[in-house]
Amino acid sequence: MKHIDEYRDGALARGIAARIARDAAPGRHYQFMEFCGGHTHAISRYGLEDLLPGNVEMVHGPGCPVCVLPAGRIDDAIKLAMCPGITLCTYADLMRVPASGGATLLRASAAGADIRMIYSPLDALRIAEAEPHRDIVFLAIGFETTTPPTALAVSAAHRKGLRNFSVFCNHVLTPPAMRAILTAPAQKDGARIRVDGFIGPAHVSTVTGTRAYLNLAEEFSKPVVVAGFEPLDVMHAILMLVRQVNESRHCVENQYIRLVTTDGNRIAQREMAKVFELRETFEWRGLGEVPLSALRLNNDYADLDAEHRFGITTVRAADNPACECATILRGLKKPADCKLFGTVCSPDTPMGSCMVSAEGACAAHWTYGRFRDRAAGHGPACSVPACLVTTLVGANEV
Ligand code: SF4
Repeated sequence: MKHIDEYRDGALARGIAARIARDAAPGRHYQFMEFCGGHTHAISRYGLEDLLPGNVEMVHGPGCPVCVLPAGRIDDAIKLAMCPGITLCTYADLMRVPASGGATLLRASAAGADIRMIYSPLDALRIAEAEPHRDIVFLAIGFETTTPPTALAVSAAHRKGLRNFSVFCNHVLTPPAMRAILTAPAQKDGARIRVDGFIGPAHVSTVTGTRAYLNLAEEFSKPVVVAGFEPLDVMHAILMLVRQVNESRHCVENQYIRLVTTDGNRIAQREMAKVFELRETFEWRGLGEVPLSALRLNNDYADLDAEHRFGITTVRAADNPACECATILRGLKKPADCKLFGTVCSPDTPMGSCMVSAEGACAAHWTYGRFRDRAAGHGPACSVPACLVTTLVGANEV
């Protein structure tokens, strides 16, 4: 398939891997975080870690919106959905994310709550127009990628004067979470994640542009390479990071030049700025309270804010103590370090948020069986399909 197969060429992937192995200095350990769940998924799916030399390690980050939504916010959504006259609309992935005491939206739905799965905020708007006798609440989650559609839905509802539509807003921002990873206090055992550089998110960066990471790279002296989601994109980004570290540079580089620009999507940014304002702080699963890391509707749209309309005051809820999602989302542990992984917790029976979404680290590890290769002591294996097409953006640079 044109424009996809080009980025899945096995021979080119092995060629880039050889460059990484050649450039990675012996005796030096490189530890890079892929912030985004889309990259985690690609790394697991194509077995990219098996292509890397032993001194180049990838650490999974918190960039999966389903994974980072804390249990207390899902408790709120369930309470709302159980109210007579309220219909809660949300994306399918959220239905199975555990809240307090093992509750989920799916169980609430089975118990009689009116919860509907939608593909877009505009679906919720259409339901509100078609059913004026019900209060339609859109449970909005996601990073900068999914925020513009929510902004458009809010603007449209405002313009149409829809009084039975509101948004329970849980949109979060990428750069503050990267900052939180770098500044997180050490754990009780003294553990703190070391990150030598980030693979920056792909889709998020189409909206924000690479400019969004400049301050972070400068302040913490950490290189950031924005990369696409295909296996060669990720391998190329790792090579770019290795070279930056070797040269003691901390630049924001753009591997995903076919879609990402320096300034991003100005129209989307304008729509977001019109509707949202920054929250002073917001709880993330795994990261705890992160200042200036999330959005809420601004005063002009307060009547469409479900928190305002229904008086929601979130109470922090404890996660399942046996679940290691919090440490995995901070990069301190890997999925297979969790005792529940693959025993009581699997995509069919998720005990934590990281096993729900395809972008979650636990779900990706489980689905592509990477842990089995290692547990069985199998040697490195490249699962990148050996496609015939040989065109690769940036191939000349590697
Ligand atoms: S395997 Fe399940 S219980 Fe363990 S960290 Fe992952 S999601 Fe949580």
